[in-house]
Amino acid sequence: MVQTAVDLANTLRPIKGEDDLESVEQLRDFLDAHPADGPPSSPADQGTGPRHLTRADLAEVRAVRETVRKVLEGANADAAEAAALINDGLRRSRATLVLRHEGDRWWTEVTSDSDRCSAHLAAATLSALASVIAVLGPARLGVCAGPTCRATFVDLSRNGSKQYCTRTCAHRASVAAYRSRRRPR
Ligand SMILES: [Zn+2]
Repeated sequence: MVQTAVDLANTLRPIKGEDDLESVEQLRDFLDAHPADGPPSSPADQGTGPRHLTRADLAEVRAVRETVRKVLEGANADAAEAAALINDGLRRSRATLVLRHEGDRWWTEVTSDSDRCSAHLAAATLSALASVIAVLGPARLGVCAGPTCRATFVDLSRNGSKQYCTRTCAHRASVAAYRSRRRPR
């Protein structure tokens, strides 16, 4: 669930100084919007029942976010450091690979044998980032080149030349470049 990793990192917008993960309610909204991997019919939260979240969960998830963000920001420049962060995070979240099936559909999922929601989130996001690095390379993780953005992204495109988080950011940058070229010197 690599999009969950990117979305988690981007709940923090360092340039604007905005943070969408400051309250337990915001954490609940984030987790509701990012259910666990698997077919839609599978329960989003295996066996933990109705989710009861506390300030402790919030603090732990914020720490996971810091790791995920560091990996997304740094993998391109220092892949070994990103790998160490991922491996350490997976170990601490007690990540386990599980083979699941429903009917004739099979899939693997990295989950955690801990009952902490932060551990499940760490296992899912860090394993997804690990897969991208293993399959496509560490350069596919990045930070938007928009001067006022710094949102993180994962580039799953065919040519792997993504520089901006969104088309909006790319457009804004090309307009700014055009204007600066036209400015009289
Ligand atoms: Zn951007």
